[in-house]
Amino acid sequence: MVKQINKLRPKFTTHADGSDAVLFIHELVGEQDGPTVGISASIHGNENAGSQAILELYRVLKDMPLKGRILLLPVANPKAFAVNHRFTPLDELNLNREFPGDDRGNYTQQLAFALAGDYFDKLDANIDLHSGTDRPTVDYVYIWSDEGLSRAFGSKILYRPTTGKTGTVYTGTTKTVTIDRRPEMRVTTIELGGGIVDQGPYVKRTVDGMLNQLRYLGVIAGDVVAPPRQVVVGELVGIRPKHGGWLEPLSPPNGEIIKGGQLLGRVVSPYDFETIEEIPTPFENGIMVMQHLSRNLVEAGDYGFMVGNLDGSEQ
Ligand SMILES: [Zn+2]
Repeated sequence: MVKQINKLRPKFTTHADGSDAVLFIHELVGEQDGPTVGISASIHGNENAGSQAILELYRVLKDMPLKGRILLLPVANPKAFAVNHRFTPLDELNLNREFPGDDRGNYTQQLAFALAGDYFDKLDANIDLHSGTDRPTVDYVYIWSDEGLSRAFGSKILYRPTTGKTGTVYTGTTKTVTIDRRPEMRVTTIELGGGIVDQGPYVKRTVDGMLNQLRYLGVIAGDVVAPPRQVVVGELVGIRPKHGGWLEPLSPPNGEIIKGGQLLGRVVSPYDFETIEEIPTPFENGIMVMQHLSRNLVEAGDYGFMVGNLDGSEQ
């Protein structure tokens, strides 16, 4: 059994309606010493598959023997989560660009500051759960400081960010208050789920993946399940539709190959039925990472697709 479960509710400010702004953290303390592992979700409020997975994981973990301590942060940004919105509605800021935050800044910066001090600074390892929204669905895992931890989740596609030509910048993300502060921290970012489909299978995969990662970290007993055949891409491109309208998907499922010349999808006008845009895949040898599962209405520049480049990839 878990020795003790504490519901931590550190308050960091007061809302205009008089309610307390608090963090919602569950602390599961094991019988034996070991690392402190955090599991966080809904830093983006419209990616709630991870929050569902943490609820299910809690139901499993509360009756298990633990070595060390687990801090569950099921909803990192409650105000955004409550309205199914990527940004905090109070100031329209992206929490995952505001770390390390500012105790005297605007609301999202205060939230980021509280999360840094009361959550991230206390951890030896963190698993951060992201997903698609109720539009696109996504399936890959970032490799940051511990490749084994990332692989242990069991997803087929992994992404090793490089400061190469894609020039992706991670300023203000959780990286700022984890491995940038303490390089020895073991962290990973999971991207799994989303789309207008039952999230149950994604939630189950997330729970199974996290249990395997907790075995890898030595927090729960049992042998680590070897991952399936995996591919590590160093180049991952997000493709947004230029135009708004019906986005009609034409791509193969996530994890499948897409060859140069194939279309990811097309945008069709809901009004005059004309095809406004055809969206080609960017690589000769690509692998699907994010896509839409159904005909969705998109605005110009919404999230569309992500494709990994298999040229230059590793196993
Ligand atoms: Zn996200």
